[in-house]
Amino acid sequence: MRPCTRRGFGFLAGATCLAAMPRAASAGPLPRVVVIGGGPGGATVARYLAMSAKPIDIVLVEPKTRFTTCFFSNLYLAGLRSFESITFGYEVLADRYGVKVVHDRATEIDPVGRTVQLQGGARLPYDRLVVAPGIAFRSGAIAGYDEAAAEIMPHAWMAGPQTELLRRQLEAMPDGGVFTIVAPPEPYRCPPGPYERASMVAAYFKAHKPRSKVLILDTKDGFFEQDLFQESWNRHYRGMIEWLPNQFIGDILAVDVKTRTIRTSTQVFKTDVGNIIPAQMAASLAQQAGLADPTGWCPVVAETFESKLHAGIHLVGDATSPGDMPKSAFAANMQAKACAFAIETALTGADPVRPFLYNTCYTFLAPDDAISDAIDFKISNGHIGIADIEFSRMDESGAVRAGAVREANAWYDAFTQDIWGERGRS
Ligand SMILES: Cc1cc2nc3c(=O)[nH]c(=O)nc-3n(C[C@H](O)[C@H](O)[C@H](O)COP(=O)(O)OP(=O)(O)OC[C@H]3O[C@@H](n4cnc5c(N)ncnc54)[C@H](O)[C@@H]3O)c2cc1C
Repeated sequence: MRPCTRRGFGFLAGATCLAAMPRAASAGPLPRVVVIGGGPGGATVARYLAMSAKPIDIVLVEPKTRFTTCFFSNLYLAGLRSFESITFGYEVLADRYGVKVVHDRATEIDPVGRTVQLQGGARLPYDRLVVAPGIAFRSGAIAGYDEAAAEIMPHAWMAGPQTELLRRQLEAMPDGGVFTIVAPPEPYRCPPGPYERASMVAAYFKAHKPRSKVLILDTKDGFFEQDLFQESWNRHYRGMIEWLPNQFIGDILAVDVKTRTIRTSTQVFKTDVGNIIPAQMAASLAQQAGLADPTGWCPVVAETFESKLHAGIHLVGDATSPGDMPKSAFAANMQAKACAFAIETALTGADPVRPFLYNTCYTFLAPDDAISDAIDFKISNGHIGIADIEFSRMDESGAVRAGAVREANAWYDAFTQDIWGERGRS
């Protein structure tokens, strides 16, 4: 890996000083990259650009000062992780890597003038722009489910206060209650996520509220790693988790938070705790900036993650439609590296780096039982397709699965350092 070449730009509380300075004075002769979104996609781009052999002026725009990872948030729900252990700041990126971190929200992109407007009033010029804003929910996908309803029946699909709310609801739920997950249609963030959540909530119930049940109302008729999940549910939580596919219940039509009911085209389900995960699309900034196509997702060039709709703007992470790559933090991190190398090549004349794209996911079935999948991708005719795929097997021993739990925890620590830099050593 190339060494970090610059340090100590410091941590900017706002963008005012950046905007107040003329372009040349703020960036000097350095090319400037503005990165919007400090999640796994955007933060990785910023960190890898900061390690460029030739200096680049990097500005990371992210409204939150603390980022809670969706990955491992199901472990927090089960009581297996603290909230603090899945939450990260941006101090290391600023102090050790010289990334100028601006805690504000981007509201508008001018691709012709090459500027980004921030909610706080500043306008940031850029030479290259990276947009990594994650997802939004499709409005009206489920009648009655809006932002106010999400405060009563949380989605907890963008980790943070929603995740803490769902945990409090689990704690408050009486033993013998029903926890209902509405699982979204494809494509959505983290294909095994809703079913890992069912497993982790059942693990919590098994330990604390053994008469309770998890009900999954699915918009689909099948799901990722279904055999592995269902075998483990039978083994760990017999009779506790019920999965109802679309062909049994019909479409999910509406929720009523007052009566805590979920209406499908054939039935009405009453629940004690409702976890509604609606259909998804690229986040609103991507939609409004014309970076998304009619599918609601952002098409990108496979090797560089440059927008197919606006030259000079790159996109990584869940907002994109990157061929066969899943919407995962691992994929966002891989795409971010390919994107950072492509930008470095374009701006500094550095040697091109051939991107390697792969994805590994660990999924928890029980506190001592995890599985994994590993996917290799290849780019062919501009399409990112699957070259090879490996899954955990159904007949693995308890020791193998316990080993995967240890690997998953080690992966989490190494992976989050790769995104936000080493914790506690700034
Ligand atoms: C329950 C659950 C479990 C998961 N488990 C795994 C797992 O085990 N492994 C795995 O690899 N993935 C997992 N994922 C998926 C993973 O969390 C996402 O794929 C990943 O977070 C996507 O990263 P991103 O950077 O694209 O988007 P995000 O993480 O959503 O980050 C986007 C950032 O952009 C910011 N932003 C948005 N709009 C603006 C704006 N206008 N201006 C400035 N900033 C903006 C947001 O504040 C946010 O911080 C899981 C997801 C869930 C929900």
